[in-house]
Amino acid sequence: MDSVSLVPLGGLGEFGMNMMALECGDDILVIDAGMAFPDAGMFGVDYVLPDLTWLVERRENVRGVILTHGHEDHIGGLSNLLQHVDVPVYGVDLTLALASHRLRENGMLAGAELHHIDPDSQLDFGSMSVEFIPVSHSIPGALAVVVHTPIGAILHTGDFKLDHTLKGDDGFDVGRFAELGSEGLLLLMSDSTNIEAPGLSPAEASIRPRLDQLFHQARRRLLVATFASSLYRVQQLIDLAVDHGRAVAVTGRSMVKNVQVGTDLDYIWLPDNHVVDIRDVRKMDPEKVMVLMTGSQGEPFAALSLVSSDSHAHLRLEEGDTVAMSARIIPGHEKAITGLVNNLYRRGADVHYGPGAGIHASGHGSREDLRMMLSLTRPRFFIPLHGEFRQLTLHARLAQEMGVPSENVCVAENGQRVVLTEDSCSVEETVPAGRVLVDGRALDNLDEIVLNDRRQLSEDGMVIITIVIHRDTGEVQGSPEMVSRGFIYMADSTELVDETKQLAVDTVNRLTVKERLDQETSQEAVRAALRRFFSKR
Ligand SMILES: [Zn+2]
Repeated sequence: MDSVSLVPLGGLGEFGMNMMALECGDDILVIDAGMAFPDAGMFGVDYVLPDLTWLVERRENVRGVILTHGHEDHIGGLSNLLQHVDVPVYGVDLTLALASHRLRENGMLAGAELHHIDPDSQLDFGSMSVEFIPVSHSIPGALAVVVHTPIGAILHTGDFKLDHTLKGDDGFDVGRFAELGSEGLLLLMSDSTNIEAPGLSPAEASIRPRLDQLFHQARRRLLVATFASSLYRVQQLIDLAVDHGRAVAVTGRSMVKNVQVGTDLDYIWLPDNHVVDIRDVRKMDPEKVMVLMTGSQGEPFAALSLVSSDSHAHLRLEEGDTVAMSARIIPGHEKAITGLVNNLYRRGADVHYGPGAGIHASGHGSREDLRMMLSLTRPRFFIPLHGEFRQLTLHARLAQEMGVPSENVCVAENGQRVVLTEDSCSVEETVPAGRVLVDGRALDNLDEIVLNDRRQLSEDGMVIITIVIHRDTGEVQGSPEMVSRGFIYMADSTELVDETKQLAVDTVNRLTVKERLDQETSQEAVRAALRRFFSKR
């Protein structure tokens, strides 16, 4: 065996749905099985999954899937993967507990083969053996994966930052990374998410003083929205609530779930006498409660949005309440968030959000963290992971700056199979890969045509004209019916409606009898005439 293939099925050239396959001889190992959330233009799409065609065609060879940590963009596609490929799953207890929730929801838990690992575990997958290195991230239990192959060691960092304030298995094992460098690392694949942020990524603990200040200033109730998966943040907020004599209420489905999983596994410390049911918050002294909630991105049905529109079942914002959004603004969500903030102010709240508030620290390494990874491990070859093309490119340049020869740096996107040997690394071919759009209510995966229809409906609305044509004579019978949605309000536009109907009838009448009786021809003629008519107006 003198080569290893790396097949990115998600997360390269885009953010989210991270999935990388490593193929060595007849053995395939998969790292992560993530999902992505839909872009603004994907109407009615609930989530996005990687196309698994390449993997399914080789399902006999897939030996295992390793989950680096418990974030949705690394575990959210697991049900779909297991539906198509029956394969054992490996992860630390927290990661598997979070993944199990989703498997259970999808009725897949009973059939899943889940294996608990810890950072010291060593696994064999045919020709490949695997070890793990703890990294710091915004959730406990994050691991980097080292795959030992016959041609050398390959390191996949997962998501990471260098946070010296996190210790033990949550900390960043600088020593082991340096050792790996001394042993001679063949290939480094590293997280590019925050390459555009200069300097070192701020530690999670660095935002504590600002959060503390917020607790000091809050005169009445304090509502804090953050990502349910940012367990360190959740813990910081709970610690501060306890320090400031505030009980903790939790609302929002994923927040309730993650706090439950976190406390069950002792990753979150939340003493029972500090917990208050969300239904009892209204009875509490407003200075004695903090509500932890979802909705930091202005997601329409998340807890904070419901509160901002006064439609939360148990929580009503009052004059003088404080709302903090302890999260980054994910690109694409700016509009939703500013709308949300306006509504919160409208209800008399004091709102803290955005970069200026200083109440969020990223879980991903900034440029200097990424440089540190390169200098510790000194790889012969480099492939940037997790990012759009610009992040991948900038990370590739950083690797060159750090001494990796340009011909040894390979920027690949989803579906580009990279072949690695002891002395080369390059894209060999393109395999089937891409996004599968899932509408939770639809029977099957969404077709691009359906999505286009939805887009068109949302942008232009629609008009339906029904004309009855006599099957023998081809004569138009009676007056046409017209229905419009999202285009004109018909009751106020009788003139336009009449004109439209007349145009449709005239158009049919201009056709020969044979053409009129051919449904496709007459339909197309009317459609074209109406399109011209409306676009001129
Ligand atoms: Zn992550």
